[in-house]
Amino acid sequence: MYEAEAFSAADRLDEDRRSGRQPGKLHGVVIGIKDVLCYKDHLVTASSKILEGFNPLYNATAVERLLKEGAILIGHLNCDEFAMGSSNENSVYGRVKNALDPDLVAGGSSGGSAVAVQAGLCMASLGSDTGGSVRQPADFCGVIGLKPTYGRVSRYGLIAYASSFDQIGIFGRTIADTALVLEVISGFDGRDSTSSRQPVPAFAAGLKDPVSRYRIAVLKEALQHPSLDPEIRDQLTGFIGELKNAGHLVEEISFDLLDFIVPAYYILTTAEASSNLSRFDGVRYGIRTGDKEARYPDFYRKTRSEGFGKEVKRRILLGTFVLSSGYYEAYFTRAQQVRKILTDRTRLIFNQFDIILTPTVPTTAFRAGDKITDPVAMYLADLYTVYANLVGIPGISLPLFHHSNGMPFGVQAMTNQFQELSLLQFSCELIQQYKSYEIPTL
Ligand code: GLN
Repeated sequence: MYEAEAFSAADRLDEDRRSGRQPGKLHGVVIGIKDVLCYKDHLVTASSKILEGFNPLYNATAVERLLKEGAILIGHLNCDEFAMGSSNENSVYGRVKNALDPDLVAGGSSGGSAVAVQAGLCMASLGSDTGGSVRQPADFCGVIGLKPTYGRVSRYGLIAYASSFDQIGIFGRTIADTALVLEVISGFDGRDSTSSRQPVPAFAAGLKDPVSRYRIAVLKEALQHPSLDPEIRDQLTGFIGELKNAGHLVEEISFDLLDFIVPAYYILTTAEASSNLSRFDGVRYGIRTGDKEARYPDFYRKTRSEGFGKEVKRRILLGTFVLSSGYYEAYFTRAQQVRKILTDRTRLIFNQFDIILTPTVPTTAFRAGDKITDPVAMYLADLYTVYANLVGIPGISLPLFHHSNGMPFGVQAMTNQFQELSLLQFSCELIQQYKSYEIPTL
């Protein structure tokens, strides 16, 4: 918590207003940031021991843009180590509890960012989403979670997990807040060569434009998937019926690629992670082994063995394996091919439809400890979210529903690349018409 600093920032902003200075778009808005975003002179660790004491020398572009518009940053928020996980149980600081029920997980990897908004500690927060880390915890916590198009928000100053998937995302209570934060952090940045030069629409003002009828594709295999909780399936089926009655064109389309998505995602992201995380060697960043006698190459091995947690090690090993000669073609190349096929298929879908609709997660928030010993079960829970990252499209989780077990759950909407405005307008409509869940006062 950056308490003293936050209060003095608030005093400064009050002073600015009194002196008649034009207020920024986020004047006085209290925002938290995931512990993977660099904020100059504030320790950032990716919730890993290996980055203990690491003080970044510069601001991430997204952070810089928030500050420029008058946001007050109240703290770095806990997450899974290096953003790897779906439950926020892989953190050197311990797990994040769901504020609705402390025995349940918050979701991951941006669990702290989700709970901070859920519990009203801040008005919005930033997370990162490589395969669902904003949308999935948003679903588990009953808040909105948006992952923008790949390239919409600069990744400069975001600690990398899998660079061709990573994107900074936003948690909010309302679409208006989410849209405004997106507007502020989006746009080209010369320091990230993958950031896009596409113009940034006035997302917040654009929400007022009249909403049309949407052409909505529902992925049949997603709704019929055996891992989907039956009550979530029933409620979503009823909801889809209501969308039809409201005059939208809703069609169930076959999407037989669904079962290839999670394997392709975990091959490609672990490969990228094994390369990205090779920089943590005890020389350039963070901690080094306590063994003063250790020499190269033992020095690297010991530093990394002591500094990384179990899940991160698992992924570095897996990623190194899928990139090794003899296995590269069988795993990495095949997964790249799956990614290409998915991209082509997605283009065809968006020739006919404006929106793709799926569940966000197959279940509501699960109990802490339930999946942590079974990584495959944990990975399979990412079934619906990793698709948007594989093909680079924006996705949002909207907290519309209430399960009979007492927990919220969401629906995921996706549009074609750079169609966030349409995604946000659609989201507004859904929230106004169909939201049957409100977070109780916590
Ligand atoms: N749960 C996914 C993973 O562990 C997504 C993580 C993320 O989006 N950062 O890779």
